[in-house]
Amino acid sequence: MTTTASVDTTIQLIDAGRATGSTCSPDLASGPWAFDASPGYGPGASLADPPPAVAPRQGELPREYREADPADLDARVRAAKATLGDRVVILGHFYQREEVVTHADFVGDSFQLANASLTRPDAEAIVFCGVHFMAETADLLSGPEQAVILPNLAAGCSMADMADIDQVEECWEQLTELYGTEPDENGRVPVIPVTYMNSSAALKGFCGRNGGIVCTSSNAATVLEWAFERGQRVLFFPDQHLGRNTAKAMGVPLEAMPMWNPNKPLGGNDERALGDAQVILWHGFCSVHRRFTVGQIEQARAEHPGVRVIVHPECPMPVVDAADESGSTDYIRKAIDAATEPTTFAIGTEVNLVQRLAAQYPQHTIFCLDPVVCPCSTMYRIHPGYLAWVLESLVAGEVPNRITVPADVADPARLALERMLAAKPPVAGA
Ligand code: SF4
Repeated sequence: MTTTASVDTTIQLIDAGRATGSTCSPDLASGPWAFDASPGYGPGASLADPPPAVAPRQGELPREYREADPADLDARVRAAKATLGDRVVILGHFYQREEVVTHADFVGDSFQLANASLTRPDAEAIVFCGVHFMAETADLLSGPEQAVILPNLAAGCSMADMADIDQVEECWEQLTELYGTEPDENGRVPVIPVTYMNSSAALKGFCGRNGGIVCTSSNAATVLEWAFERGQRVLFFPDQHLGRNTAKAMGVPLEAMPMWNPNKPLGGNDERALGDAQVILWHGFCSVHRRFTVGQIEQARAEHPGVRVIVHPECPMPVVDAADESGSTDYIRKAIDAATEPTTFAIGTEVNLVQRLAAQYPQHTIFCLDPVVCPCSTMYRIHPGYLAWVLESLVAGEVPNRITVPADVADPARLALERMLAAKPPVAGA
């Protein structure tokens, strides 16, 4: 059954005028299938982000799932899951709706979930209730016979989509022309590409082919150290904020971190700035974490003296600087878990996780820094109706919405992931 921690329940109550508060879009109260045929990310934090030209679309969800009430869907998911037994494993991301997470065998960040699926090598199907790049990573790490399923194909990630392989190849060409390919006297090559886990398999493959590596929000500093041992500078994509916050904490001056705008020659930089660069930051961001502001932190401190402010490193630098701590979703969860005295926490990350933590730790006061209820648009696309549909399809012997990474991409992508694991086993990810 759903719990009181449900963001969707809160949104429905606000929409019906039975609760105070506000949401970033009145469309959040509709079923996500209302937006499947449209090219955007749907309602939520990514609403204003331009979607890629060839974003996957989801076919129409059968009417019986669109019109079922929540209790029916809950019962159908449970029945189908029970029928499938060990043949299926359901993974739920920290930012996923509570109505879906309640059915998950594992809940975690993207890398934890991909690793969790390794503990179930006999499962025929891995149903990934997250977004597209996460399902790709699970496919990279799972067995060849296992089918990774994304219940709604329109569940992309606006940040991951901000760097596509053609843009990155074009950037690499320009950087190679500028810097050449010869190592310096210490054997360090001109540039090492580093991609955040929140990127397509194609970008992970690019890093694998070009001496690069993947990082998570937990191990970004370790990975940058690895890269600086091997390269004179780093090209970091797609999240400028994680790159900037991490490199700044390591002592890299801001003026040595030019931004690369893929729509401009040399990314909008001159050759001198790129010559002095230590970290070249891709012009990408997370629409959820970009909503947090220094003003929200000031307000939290004014209204809750002694509040402990923890934000995710995908937040803009001034927000991270104004917070007491910053860390990955797993860091946030562990920090709350480790607090022995009743504490007030103001958290700067996705609202589904914050509400779930508030319900799990009633001895603490836990609230989201953003007073507007604005979930990750793309996680929001995975409604229990889609979960019921994919599970009942599996029961009927069909495999819907399978995500497969082609071998020519998968092999180098795995290499980039292996380099990350060799640099230091990550504790957690995005
Ligand atoms: S929270 Fe941000 S980075 Fe994570 S899936 Fe949503 S848009 Fe992508």
